[in-house]
Amino acid sequence: MKRREFTKVAAAVAAATVAGKAGTSLIDGDAPRNVAASHPPAQPQRVAPAPTSPRSVERIVVSQRTLEGAGFPVRRPFPTRALRHFDPFVLIDEMGPVTWGPGKALGAPDHPHRGFETVSYILEGSVQHADSLGHRGILGPGGVQWMTAGSGIVHAEEPPPAFKRDGGRMHGFQLWVNLPAKLKLTKPRYQEMQADEFPEATTPDGLAKVRVIAGEALGVRSRIDVHTPIIYQHWLLQPGAKVTQSIPADHNACLYVFGGAGTSGPDDKSVTDGDLAIYGPGDAVTLHVPRTAKAPLQALLLAGQPHGDPIVQYGPFVMNNMAQIQQAYRDYQAGKMGEIAPT
Ligand code: MN
Repeated sequence: MKRREFTKVAAAVAAATVAGKAGTSLIDGDAPRNVAASHPPAQPQRVAPAPTSPRSVERIVVSQRTLEGAGFPVRRPFPTRALRHFDPFVLIDEMGPVTWGPGKALGAPDHPHRGFETVSYILEGSVQHADSLGHRGILGPGGVQWMTAGSGIVHAEEPPPAFKRDGGRMHGFQLWVNLPAKLKLTKPRYQEMQADEFPEATTPDGLAKVRVIAGEALGVRSRIDVHTPIIYQHWLLQPGAKVTQSIPADHNACLYVFGGAGTSGPDDKSVTDGDLAIYGPGDAVTLHVPRTAKAPLQALLLAGQPHGDPIVQYGPFVMNNMAQIQQAYRDYQAGKMGEIAPT
């Protein structure tokens, strides 16, 4: 992108920042339900310096289709043979979209986790969650559940009974965010945000919309409390949309496209449905959808401060070495991660 053009985009983003603040009551509203009372209030807005160096797409990883849990279909950019993990992220699963017949919907029955955080984001359908700490909840479209497995938890992620009975369409995401070595065995924690609690913002031209699951975009900020500095944003860009999003220079950044196509970076690299675009160095990400595009671009923009720790993942555990993995299996088998109390 030409320098002059980029300045124009930066100005548009600055304007959008103001619009986003004015248009969203969530930032000033009551604390989200089910979020621990100790959760700190939203930080006052910082005035971030205008980004000057847009990142280039350095690599595209094409996601693979596989089955997860009891056998529900996912599209997975990593972990795969092509990409083991993307520090501080360990896994991205796009669950579905799948349309289940009556009685057919599948989930993930009781299983343990240790050493990281699972972040579920539901677009269509719903998931019923129950865990060994006694948390229970149904996550509907637009809902987010942020579960810190830490030292160990057993949970079940299943279609709620009515959904299982009637069937329906299911679409969502699960992201695994690693914990730094010193927090691998931190106390498990559960945060939940329903659709109406989401910070959302739209650019002044109305062409780009963002929902902020973690971090900040267009002047709105998520209340989710994180152990690792993370940016997690769902962008919807209509044909003709152009956005610039600041990303701290010390973050790894990637874009998972799950609908439509567009371009990104100063050299306008193409990104399309199913691609994970991995960015090089810089302090911003630019996204553009040509005016002639037939469909909007839908994508998750993910960035985070890498931990730099060794990552050893075995099934549901993510630790720093094999001895810790073996310990996790022993602790789980000895019942130290608890069990889900029958209702
Ligand atoms: Mn799980």
